Amino acid sequence: MADESVTLYAWINGKRVDADEYMERENPADPQKIVAYVPKTTTGQAKEAIEAARAAFPAWKEVSVEERIERMERAIQTLKDRTPELAETLAEEHGKPVYDAEGEMAVSIMWMEYACQTVKETIADQVDEGEGGKTIVRQEPVGVVSAISPWNYPIALSTIKIAPAILTGNTVVSKPSPFAPHAVSLVVEMIAGEFPDGVLNLVHGEAEVGVELTSNEHVDKIAFTGGTETAKKIMKSAADTIKDMTLELGGNDAAVVLPDFDVNDERAMRRMVISNFLTAGQICMIAKRIYVPRTLYNEFVEKYQEAANKWVKIGSPFDEQVTTGPLNNKQQLDFVKNLVDNAAEKGADVIPLGHIVDNELFEQGHFLQPTLVLGADQQDDIVKEEQFGPTVPIVPYDTVDEAVKMANDSIYGLTSSVWGEENHAIEVAARIEAGTTMVNTAAVQGLDVRYPFGGVKQSGIGREYGKEGLLGYVTPHVINVPKMRDLPYIPE
Ligand code: NAD
Repeated sequence: MADESVTLYAWINGKRVDADEYMERENPADPQKIVAYVPKTTTGQAKEAIEAARAAFPAWKEVSVEERIERMERAIQTLKDRTPELAETLAEEHGKPVYDAEGEMAVSIMWMEYACQTVKETIADQVDEGEGGKTIVRQEPVGVVSAISPWNYPIALSTIKIAPAILTGNTVVSKPSPFAPHAVSLVVEMIAGEFPDGVLNLVHGEAEVGVELTSNEHVDKIAFTGGTETAKKIMKSAADTIKDMTLELGGNDAAVVLPDFDVNDERAMRRMVISNFLTAGQICMIAKRIYVPRTLYNEFVEKYQEAANKWVKIGSPFDEQVTTGPLNNKQQLDFVKNLVDNAAEKGADVIPLGHIVDNELFEQGHFLQPTLVLGADQQDDIVKEEQFGPTVPIVPYDTVDEAVKMANDSIYGLTSSVWGEENHAIEVAARIEAGTTMVNTAAVQGLDVRYPFGGVKQSGIGREYGKEGLLGYVTPHVINVPKMRDLPYIPE
């Protein structure tokens, strides 16, 4: 664990760049402690980072894919070697327990390895030759990529963009969130060290820098993960220069429990609980509302509470028995607390879950005890909004059609899950509007980096992970050599 705060810096064209002003990043379990001073990168410095990426692009795109892979594999090895240290740094600044931070490192590495293994085949030229002539489809890198990430999975959601962008021949300016900037800065610098200057740059800051990264004429693509409201601003910033973009946004993922779900299946109940409270519920793809048949409701609630009380232990991210740490920041804590308090005021039953391991720490940090909310309606904010915190409403339904309708009644469509007899669940899953629907599991437990991930409706545009996650950074260039160059129907 880092025992003193560190001063972070931008990394532009292979060099450290300090700032004139800094923001404080506190330890969410003990907010009196500052873990990092985060530079306020100026828009001028952001422009320099974009120019460095622009300047590095022509040479980088000509480097062979084999060399790009070799360099990335060296970076992956460093991340593997330094995982324990990086996970501790992440746990301290973020609030997620060390096991969870290690999990984030593992997912990041898994994806980077998959990207290395598949990039060559995915972006290979497609050559068609026949009687009609010859056509070559080349996959060209798009150019300079602004990679903007949120605080909840800072390393995974930065490397999900950086690795495919660089492997396919682009150059990158990465901007993490000031709410979890330290571990990801170390990761970016470790990766950048394996590539020529300017290929990967790092800036810090908030909306002002974000606007530069999304409006600058020398940026070709925006890869953004964050809130839907921020994405709307980004689309406006990017409009004048028509930028390519991949947007991974908010979600309000439904878990539909079918009448044939076995409430006595303890492992399934445990997976359901984990899918609600991992990372204190601050995951885009976590189950945020549960629909249960009215006939199963009482039994389900009882078994759910049993499983949650067994699994959820709230306390220090560095305590090995702890499953659930503090929320990442005070704003998020207040937002979730308000949603829960308002639901209670409107008459919902709010049932605390799990055990608080250390009461003193709980009082001093940004902690919120996980809760189950019963008696809220589809139209109540606790059901309608993305809570992004440790609370989940359970809503009863009468027919499966009604459950599907309620699941789809959302501006979002990121992930979702269906729980019950497998074939029945697959059938119902196909009716849900989402980028991913998992059967008998949910959230990161059902994530597979080999397949495309992303949202429908206001949960996003484009896909990350899978081959699609690489193809998002290239654009086809068709070279056409038809044998019959003069078309017969065009008059001489
Ligand atoms: P956020 O939108 O507040 O911030 C995300 C990033 O955008 C940060 O780096 C922030 O500094 C930057 N930013 C802020 N204003 C900007 C602007 N005007 N222009 C450009 N960049 C700007 O999101 P957050 O609070 O950090 O993260 C939580 C949100 O992210 C939730 O809605 C969650 O669902 C979503 N999320 C989605 C996915 C996904 O894969 N779909 C994954 C994780 C999180």
